[in-house]
Amino acid sequence: MRTTAVVIGAGQSGLAMSWWLAERALDHVVLERGEVANTWRTERWDSLTLLTPNWQSRLPGHGYEGDDPDSYRTMAETIAFIERYATLLSPPLRTHCPVVSVRSASSGYEVVTEQGTWQCKAVVLATGAFNVAQVPALGAELPAGLLQITPARYRTPAELPDGGVLVVGAAATGAQLADEIARSGRDVTLAVGEHVRAPRTYRGRDIQWWMDATGMNDEPYDRVENLNRARNLPAFQIAGYPDRRDIDLNALRAIGVRIVGRAAGLRDDTLLLSGSLRNVCELADLKLNRLLNMFDEWAAAHDLDRAIDPAHRPAPTLVDATPPLKLGLAKSGIRAVVWATGFRADYPWLQVPVLDRKGRVVHDGGVVTGSPGLYVLGLPFLRRRKSTLIDGVGDDARDLSAHLCAHVGARQAPEQEEERAAFQRR
Ligand SMILES: Cc1cc2nc3c(=O)[nH]c(=O)nc-3n(C[C@H](O)[C@H](O)[C@H](O)COP(=O)(O)OP(=O)(O)OC[C@H]3O[C@@H](n4cnc5c(N)ncnc54)[C@H](O)[C@@H]3O)c2cc1C
Repeated sequence: MRTTAVVIGAGQSGLAMSWWLAERALDHVVLERGEVANTWRTERWDSLTLLTPNWQSRLPGHGYEGDDPDSYRTMAETIAFIERYATLLSPPLRTHCPVVSVRSASSGYEVVTEQGTWQCKAVVLATGAFNVAQVPALGAELPAGLLQITPARYRTPAELPDGGVLVVGAAATGAQLADEIARSGRDVTLAVGEHVRAPRTYRGRDIQWWMDATGMNDEPYDRVENLNRARNLPAFQIAGYPDRRDIDLNALRAIGVRIVGRAAGLRDDTLLLSGSLRNVCELADLKLNRLLNMFDEWAAAHDLDRAIDPAHRPAPTLVDATPPLKLGLAKSGIRAVVWATGFRADYPWLQVPVLDRKGRVVHDGGVVTGSPGLYVLGLPFLRRRKSTLIDGVGDDARDLSAHLCAHVGARQAPEQEEERAAFQRR
């Protein structure tokens, strides 16, 4: 089979790219190994709600239509939202069509699937940034009787064995799971490394309102001082609960979660903990205050001080005078470990040499390096801070679709030609 472009994946990224390719009248197909919104259906825990408020899901040609813009969607609502997008778009979509290989070919690429082979000039990898939950090498050393689980497999606290639970990692996922498991009545210990503390609301506005209004979410990738670091930062320590409560370390401690340092090693049955807990907490507080200062300055500059609540600062993170450096797993009654230690993208089917030694696609703002006609979408800080958000992928897809059309030599309307030229000037 022949087409001009193959888009792999029918999550928000693949669908947004399809929207833009259709807008530019470019012949393409979207290939999805499962159903539309497959990752939201199969790889998220039951109680997860979006971190982003309803209003913040502006996809090209589709946005929030309900009457509760400030709430946070459940998984069922998120799936329904993306399904509705696909229905409106009616893209050239093949579901249950796993791509098993992508290779370079004389005229572009050959994409092999379980439903046949496509020859095309361009390929868009829209297969997600969070395919594999990462588990540190330490996982292999833990006692066999301990249940180890990642957020991709975790569903509810009821599925964990009776007894204490160690959650490793305190970004959004780890903090949310520590909160949920502790509230189910378990003893929870949270091992904390570098994290990004943030309040759910500040001065009466959602943190995402601030990120959006101040332009932080739109910050472009080519103006960031340390892009590699920005691309690897942990997610804000927030949740989208109806009561908008915080889930920072002070909030977790208040519901009985035991806060300890980063899990650094194992000796027999004893987990060795890093002595850096105080430092990482002070650093997180410092960065939080810097962020809030920036919001305050922006509010003052925009004459908002009287329209919103007064500025304030959250209490510093409480840290025990002498945090433990060891944790006896059996002695502490720990029966399960939840690894909330990050995710990574995975491309086992990609047979084009564009991965670095860590298996990451090498790209410049989504244009894959050294393989003309190959694009990637939906990765952290791909083109903007908001690139992995539902709200962010539309702008990236617009930019990359302009580049793709130019690459395949598709004729564009004059305003689209201008867009492409602007892209190349940046
Ligand atoms: C725990 C968690 C919470 C999040 N919460 C939010 C939030 O609150 N708000 C927000 O805006 N964002 C959130 N995100 C980030 C982001 O919106 C999601 O990760 C989203 O799923 C990314 O969409 P995507 O289309 O880029 O990738 P995915 O949704 O992962 O879609 C990729 C698609 O590619 C398909 N695929 C993969 N390999 C193949 C193959 N070989 N052949 C064919 N198809 C393939 C998959 O089945 C999948 O459907 C969250 C992410 C995580 C991990």
